[in-house]
Amino acid sequence: MNTSASRVAKTILFWFSIVFLGLMLWKLSRANSAATHSDQNTDWTTIILNTAPLILLVGFCLLLMRQMGRNKAWSRNARSASRTGIGYDLHRLEAGRKLIVGGIELPFDKGPVGHSDGDVLAHAVCDALLGAAGLGDIGTHFPDTDPKWKGANSLIFLEHAKKLLAEKDFAIEHVDAVVITERPKLGPHFPKMREALARALGVPVEKIHLKAKTNEGVDAIGRGEAIAAHVVATISRP
Ligand code: MG
Repeated sequence: MNTSASRVAKTILFWFSIVFLGLMLWKLSRANSAATHSDQNTDWTTIILNTAPLILLVGFCLLLMRQMGRNKAWSRNARSASRTGIGYDLHRLEAGRKLIVGGIELPFDKGPVGHSDGDVLAHAVCDALLGAAGLGDIGTHFPDTDPKWKGANSLIFLEHAKKLLAEKDFAIEHVDAVVITERPKLGPHFPKMREALARALGVPVEKIHLKAKTNEGVDAIGRGEAIAAHVVATISRP
């Protein structure tokens, strides 16, 4: 039962109880008056029989109202939520392409192969947010078969994810990311990346946390052939 329907039902029950109580008191008063005039004694049996339905009704109403309150609290609790989503992405690196990470272009001789700008961090953040809200993944909303997204700035994906979350009343609480690449060093660029990501997501920069790792020379990332990102995002709804 929604809030307005619950309020209407409570109001009806309240006034029904008041009217019923008035009628019972009036009837009781008349019965007592007749008894007083007839034999000057109070007929306690009549009083009990007359008040019993009223007591039952009031008890029922109180029970019903308490149950309504519980249902309301339950539906509120069911809606409120704190959720976590995970995102992962990897792109191959090739010579002669721009290296864009977290919305920032970094000076390097290689860049990611991808349909959009190949921003591995933005893609993983997008997936983490969409996953937390149960809204699918980046491929659902921005398929790499759509020419509209060819070479697109991946911050657009984050702005769109933010809107989708807002439509469901979700707020972004925290984004924690690890970017893995052998080169270049990412740490010096983190302040600008955090600003760009925070701006796209409409959150304070403090809510974006970035970390950098190498792969210790192991596998494709270690050989400098790829870049990857892992992201955990937390969202909440009041
Ligand atoms: Mg990607």
